[in-house]
Amino acid sequence: MYQLTDFLPTTQKELKLRGWDEVDVVLFSGDAYVDHPSFGAAVIGRVMEAEGLRVAIVPQPNWQDDLRDFRKMGVPRLFFAVTAGNMDSMVNHYTANKRLRSDDAYTAGGEAHKRPDYTTITYCNILKKLYPDVPIVIGGIEASLRRVTHYDYWSDRLMPSVLVDSKADFLVYGMGEKPLKALIAELKKGKKLNEITDIPQTSFLSAAIPERDVKTIELISHEECLKDKKRYASNFRYVEEESNRIHGARLVQKTGDKYVIINPLYPPWKPEEVDETYRLPFSRQPHPKYKGRPVPAYEMIKFSVNLHRGCFGGCAFCTISAHQGKFIVSRSKQSILDEVKQISRADDFKGNLSDLGGPSANMYAMQGKDLTICERCKRPSCIHPSVCHNLNIDHSELTDIYRSVDKLPGIKRSFIGSGVRYDMLLAETKDEQTAQSQREYLKELISRHVSGRLKIAPEHTSDRVLHLMRKPSFNYFYQFKKIFEQINRETGLNQQLIPYFISSHPACQNEDMAELAAITRDLNFKLEQVQDFTPTPMTLATEIYYSGYNPYTLEPVFTAKTKEEKLAQRKFFFWYKNEYYREILGDLKKMNRPDLINKLKIR
Ligand code: SF4
Repeated sequence: MYQLTDFLPTTQKELKLRGWDEVDVVLFSGDAYVDHPSFGAAVIGRVMEAEGLRVAIVPQPNWQDDLRDFRKMGVPRLFFAVTAGNMDSMVNHYTANKRLRSDDAYTAGGEAHKRPDYTTITYCNILKKLYPDVPIVIGGIEASLRRVTHYDYWSDRLMPSVLVDSKADFLVYGMGEKPLKALIAELKKGKKLNEITDIPQTSFLSAAIPERDVKTIELISHEECLKDKKRYASNFRYVEEESNRIHGARLVQKTGDKYVIINPLYPPWKPEEVDETYRLPFSRQPHPKYKGRPVPAYEMIKFSVNLHRGCFGGCAFCTISAHQGKFIVSRSKQSILDEVKQISRADDFKGNLSDLGGPSANMYAMQGKDLTICERCKRPSCIHPSVCHNLNIDHSELTDIYRSVDKLPGIKRSFIGSGVRYDMLLAETKDEQTAQSQREYLKELISRHVSGRLKIAPEHTSDRVLHLMRKPSFNYFYQFKKIFEQINRETGLNQQLIPYFISSHPACQNEDMAELAAITRDLNFKLEQVQDFTPTPMTLATEIYYSGYNPYTLEPVFTAKTKEEKLAQRKFFFWYKNEYYREILGDLKKMNRPDLINKLKIR
């Protein structure tokens, strides 16, 4: 049974229980407070606490009343910290069709509308109005991915760095522990926030570009971006490349009469640095005030373990590498096993772990063989257009983790819920040990870690669209399916593959969707896991969607954008539904594709 003092204080009463009458930092979060290492606000709060600060947290303050929630913890000694939570608030609130969602996985009881649109900006504006002299530090996915001029799909316009609209003083981007610790160390030395200009992974506004001996790239200014979509698109290449380098450049962007200064990322962290986070004293529970109203996102992950951070896939529609980085930072085996033991002691744990994963399931402990080559590399993906020869794709450490977890007392089964990159399992290698590790992993995964259905994400069947998505050729899917079925037969299992697909991605035409329908029908799939492409800040696909250009080639690229165009693509997922019959038939006739009419066997 947990005590209130096992959580960061959320009320004056809880402050008193700790014997505090003031705090160093008040942290405002758009999510419910779940004191667990998968919830960003809890991690940041606990990191600051471990640095010796007194931290209070205000989850989901009411921004529509007399603003008492913004006042209730008083004025902090150092700064206000603001995060929208684990998701961008606009992704959290709206569907791909911009329809308001009726639930929220990061709120107790799944209740919607507990945070405002553009949460970071709204919270900061309120705080600046109430306490103009108290500095604000922002972080989390929303702030991180809106750190330069970016396209905002929901208002259909370019927005400047979130620092401008929020009026926050300092932005910590990416995984926040290290930059935050460095920031706190500087503040403890007596420095003011506006005197701190050199901490990696931070961003701020400045009247001039601070003098520093660091490679600096000046991006096209915000005002120029507003005028010229092609020039705007050209910015993205630098933003992406420099965010994916071991030693990136500092980026600066003139915006109005100020410069947005974005210091480069820290080089990849060491396992012991990320292990530190998992040793913090999380209660691993939602705050007791939510009793009887489960937080859906917590219910989903409470019996899962995150093995690593980062993703070197570089998928065009995904933001993971823009936030967590391309280089994999893996936890030590001991840290993972310790967390599994903690989970196994929970009263409601019945022995099944829902995921041993990460941004991608099978990148654990992988990195370049010769890191000096990686130090000079600018590729946004280590596995597209093909698996880099310098990448070590040996899966044996990961297989060892699965087996070691399964041997722990109290563990019946461990499943893999994260997405598996099957191209890495099928990539040819001359190294026999690596090839052996791929075969062993495949067998281990399919025979022991699938809970009946394995979700994988080919995303499309057209190799042209897949190339722009930075995903592997659909041929790999055929190969993987064959192996999946073979291992199922050998082990007497009858498991299903559940493929994910996206419509309306840049470069995708209606004919590509018609072919997707025919191919997946031929493979006996009735698709369930499908989605329309949603342009979210700071992805390659979003830049193409808005500008019409590929930032790397500056060639024009088609994207289905209107509601009608999107629906015209989406309906092909559901070729078997009567209501789409006439339209699909008409489309296929117009495309002059009698072969597809035949294949889909539409009456
Ligand atoms: S050299 Fe290869 S493994 Fe290293 S970062 Fe570049 S693509 Fe990745």
